[in-house]
Amino acid sequence: MNTPKISFVSLGCPKALVDSERIITQLRAEGYELSKSHIGADAVIVNTCGFLDSAKAESLAAISEAMAQNGKVIVTGCMGAEPEEILKAHPDIAAVTGPQAYESVMQAVHKVAPPLHDPYLDLVPDQGVKLTPRHYAYLKISEGCNNRCSFCIIPSLRGDLVSRPLNEVMREAEKLVKSGVKEILVISQDTSAYGVDVKYAPSEWQGREYQTRFIDLARALGELGVWIRLHYVYPYPHVDDVIPLMAEGKILPYLDIPFQHASAKVLKAMRRPAHQDKTLERIHKWRSICPDLAIRSTFIVGFPGETEEDFQELLSFLDEAKLERVGCFPYEPVKGAKANDLGLELVDDETKQSRYKRFMERQQAISAKRLSTRVGRRIKVLIDEGGATQAKGRSPWDAPEIDGHVHITSRRPLRTGELVMVKIERADAYDLYGVAV
Ligand code: SF4
Repeated sequence: MNTPKISFVSLGCPKALVDSERIITQLRAEGYELSKSHIGADAVIVNTCGFLDSAKAESLAAISEAMAQNGKVIVTGCMGAEPEEILKAHPDIAAVTGPQAYESVMQAVHKVAPPLHDPYLDLVPDQGVKLTPRHYAYLKISEGCNNRCSFCIIPSLRGDLVSRPLNEVMREAEKLVKSGVKEILVISQDTSAYGVDVKYAPSEWQGREYQTRFIDLARALGELGVWIRLHYVYPYPHVDDVIPLMAEGKILPYLDIPFQHASAKVLKAMRRPAHQDKTLERIHKWRSICPDLAIRSTFIVGFPGETEEDFQELLSFLDEAKLERVGCFPYEPVKGAKANDLGLELVDDETKQSRYKRFMERQQAISAKRLSTRVGRRIKVLIDEGGATQAKGRSPWDAPEIDGHVHITSRRPLRTGELVMVKIERADAYDLYGVAV
């Protein structure tokens, strides 16, 4: 009997990637092999994203392709929380399960392609299987979200916040470091809310007493001696506490804060967490403590009720905040989101597109200016793609997949995963260019 082979498609955000890694780890533990193509595989698992309509379309296309090429398809992930649409298009699908339904996914796999080995006799590296390159890995600290942003359906798909105990998160982080990971990317739906659900329960790690809370986790992670990058943080006052750790070099001087808008009126309609806090003041204060801090953010333009005045307020915010990295999305009405029922005037597509263009033009100039301040500096760069004389890496201010790169020329070969000092000679709106020193 041959080893059963599973083909795996992972769509969506880094959070979905972590789910995929867990399922793949389990598959490996049970003796399954991964197949590079759907054809010839014993089953296909599609981990879907159902957040935006465009992501749903991508998920449906991936399911159709798997059905056409293989026929034994298990769907999981965000889109699996609403199976009707999938089942209507593909009534013969083997199983549809929601996000984090690892057990149900494995049950479906056992049915379609029974395992060959005893799961308890097979070995899997105890840090799990990572889909991300070996030198960096995502670390999920909690699941779900207590906020109720009106454009978002994640809480209804993933439920309320459930934080992992601090010592469990740290055990995983330590294993990652032991397996060679040089950069850990902390992810969740709302990283700054970590521990709220368990009332900051005490948790012991390495003989020290910690609380299950954002700042304690940042302190513990900061002792691991690798790059620690924080994603999905909200500008709550307690985030101030983490900035000194960045200034000390314990945590990367990087914050990924999805601000989404700057107008108080729009933020209120969006029901964003921390929308009343004095964000600009806070950013200035952070930079005075840690001048090297890079802030990445995302924004939505054309949210229902957004007027030209609100939009102008957003542009002024960009001028003042001088964020390093920014993504922008024209508002898309997600099915089931509260924003659709707010009774606010919808912004027409043409206005949305023109605001998007104006936003991007404004921000590009700001990003380029911010990046140009790095020219002439010597910085540490983590190599993503090594080479004999040319290599590509990232600075502390760049997260993988979403931010820019550092293009390096070198007199000696550079290895992927190596940390190298680079003298920056040039910058454009996205990337830095320099020489290894
Ligand atoms: S913080 Fe808002 S946008 Fe983010 S997951 Fe929670 S509800 Fe959705």
